[in-house]
Amino acid sequence: MTRVYVDMDQTLADYASAYRHAKEVHPDIPYPQSLPRLFEGLAPITGAIDGYRTLEEMGFDVWVLSAPSYMNPLCYTEKRLWIEKHLGLNTCKKLILSIDKSLLIGDYLIDDYDCGKGQENFRGQLIHFGTGAFPDWMAVITYFEEVVSSSLK
Ligand SMILES: [Mg+2]
Repeated sequence: MTRVYVDMDQTLADYASAYRHAKEVHPDIPYPQSLPRLFEGLAPITGAIDGYRTLEEMGFDVWVLSAPSYMNPLCYTEKRLWIEKHLGLNTCKKLILSIDKSLLIGDYLIDDYDCGKGQENFRGQLIHFGTGAFPDWMAVITYFEEVVSSSLK
């Protein structure tokens, strides 16, 4: 089964908007990512929830792979709560938190960063979300539709 890892921040969840908002509301706080409930309250990226489900329906073995903000212990819990809220309890079984994404074995990693948390050493193919060929989830799904149809030929 072809395994696909999906990043959370800025791939499934809109971290940038929440960070900007927190900076406006709390200009004195140096690290808004340490605010309680920041991660739990992130809005989904447009098309992300449907995109995740579509990958599952296409037959991929889909996992969430996120590098937690390790200075914020609440982040670990809030990511789990976010997954339950937006993708359901069953998907919580597919949540992996790892600072080093290269430790995970798989075929694809959909991530808005191509380095910094082990993405540069991931042994599958990186789908660099939000850039060039993959500006949004629609482009990602189109790409995986091609992967499926070429595997059927
Ligand atoms: Mg990210």
